[in-house]
Amino acid sequence: MRVHFLGSGTSFGVPVIGCSCRTCVSTDPRDARYRSSVLVEAEGATVLVDAGPEFRLQARRVGLGQKGRLERLDALLLTHSHADHVAGLDDVRPLTNDRILPVYGNAEAIEETRSRFEYVFRQTQVGGGKPRIELFLASGALDIGALRIIPLPLLHGALPILGWRFGRFAYITDCSAIPEPSLALLRGVEVLTINGLRWRPHATHFSVDQGIEAARLVGARETWLTHIAHDATHEELEEHCAKYGADVGARPAWDGLVIEIGSDVG
Ligand SMILES: [Zn+2]
Ligand SMILES: [Zn+2]
Ligand SMILES: [Zn+2]
Repeated sequence: MRVHFLGSGTSFGVPVIGCSCRTCVSTDPRDARYRSSVLVEAEGATVLVDAGPEFRLQARRVGLGQKGRLERLDALLLTHSHADHVAGLDDVRPLTNDRILPVYGNAEAIEETRSRFEYVFRQTQVGGGKPRIELFLASGALDIGALRIIPLPLLHGALPILGWRFGRFAYITDCSAIPEPSLALLRGVEVLTINGLRWRPHATHFSVDQGIEAARLVGARETWLTHIAHDATHEELEEHCAKYGADVGARPAWDGLVIEIGSDVG
């Protein structure tokens, strides 16, 4: 199984419009962060987690939909329906020419997506150009190709959202608390992606240190921080993680990062 990081930035992206802080003017390409998303590629299945405002650019960059590369997309999993995670949904259109794309989420995400993209689900004129998607409530494990995928109920402030587990890898973003039953669902996860927004605490997101602490609770041995704001540069985050997160193998993710995960544990 291979995980492609399509984006690792917080809701406003980095660089931020109008900002000239050291992160926003950095020449390190790892300080340019599209909105958070990953593509999980396994034997016979390609699954996208979230489709934010840069989805089209991210898909081009990774070769999604291109013959001989990641030709087809089998499913879209939503963590939740905030704009930075769904605003690119319409752009899945070219990937739905010959198949309907199933989109999975919790009740809140499904309902909100249905109302936000209302035109997609109503009869309109032929040739109107709409993505062909179908919304499904993720109430338990999903099997897509060889992938067994487990939804993980989490909290984003007061909002119920989902993380997603794929064997020994799990993807968590926009989380501020992991309920006890989901910690049990995360048992055995070795490689974890978790949000670490900034140094200071935030009402609805884990800070960098809270993300590292959550990885400790999970027992991860490799931890990739995502949904990162401009408060810290990639280099500063690397240094901090080496000092305070080495026990969970913490490092900041970046756009274009690809990680390989053995699939012998289901
Ligand atoms: Zn977000
Ligand atoms: Zn900035
Ligand atoms: Zn959010």
